[in-house]
Amino acid sequence: MKKIIALLLTVVLCTAVLASCSSAAEKQSLEAIKEKGELVVYTNAEFPPFEYLANGEPAGVDMDIAKAIADEIGVELKVENVKFDTIISSVQSGKAAMGAAGITVTEERKESVDFSISYTTSTQYVILHADVEFANITSLKGMNIGVQLGTTGDFIISDEVNGYSDDDGNAVKGVLQDTGASVTTYNNANLAAEALKSGKIQAVVVDKLPAELIAKNSEGKLKAIELVYEDGSNTAESYAICVAKGNTTLLEVIDKVIKDLLDSGKIDEYIVTHTTNALA
Ligand code: GLN
Repeated sequence: MKKIIALLLTVVLCTAVLASCSSAAEKQSLEAIKEKGELVVYTNAEFPPFEYLANGEPAGVDMDIAKAIADEIGVELKVENVKFDTIISSVQSGKAAMGAAGITVTEERKESVDFSISYTTSTQYVILHADVEFANITSLKGMNIGVQLGTTGDFIISDEVNGYSDDDGNAVKGVLQDTGASVTTYNNANLAAEALKSGKIQAVVVDKLPAELIAKNSEGKLKAIELVYEDGSNTAESYAICVAKGNTTLLEVIDKVIKDLLDSGKIDEYIVTHTTNALA
């Protein structure tokens, strides 16, 4: 009897989970968006040139792409500026139709959301005081390193500081483990950079273009260098827009718009324009 009840419970729970998945995709389907007349995008406007505040409004590469998608559908674009680490779950639950925030495609995130084709690539960078030497990741031994909560920079540095498991589940020692190195998380890289300037931390790890802008805007106090491992390899990443799992009707439009913007060189143009605009 107990087994039957357990089985029934499993069936009920699984059905509930499946129903909630399909409803997120349904809530934000192309048809639903057209009916509402509004495309809701979540971003974190602290990541120039991809998103930053211009006159109090989110602007940037991702916002230009999002606007092109809204125009293609023929609806208004509504941008919500939220914490980066809440974006994926809000897209997953259908609160937002899409997430556009320089989001790196990762296998783990693919379990929660679906991704568009990629619109650009990046690597992680290290921001340091201008006079600090950097050869490779081991140069960060003993340092307190600032990262943005829930980002790929956070995952990479936390693994190297705390150790991690490889694909077969074996414990791997991080290159910064037991060196006195530690990680401090911030809600955005600008806050981490302020802590770096005031000496609370000794390094910040964040994506390339935001890192370069922080260094360029620091009056020569800070520098930004690519994060490489001891063998010289880097952390290759691709950015894409995410939607609720199974939201194929919306994803098709997003892919088409990104493909057109890539083919016409518009994405490169957006990057140049917003990098210039975000210079202090
Ligand atoms: N590309 C990084 C990530 O996806 C950082 C994105 C961001 O901070 N907006 O985790």
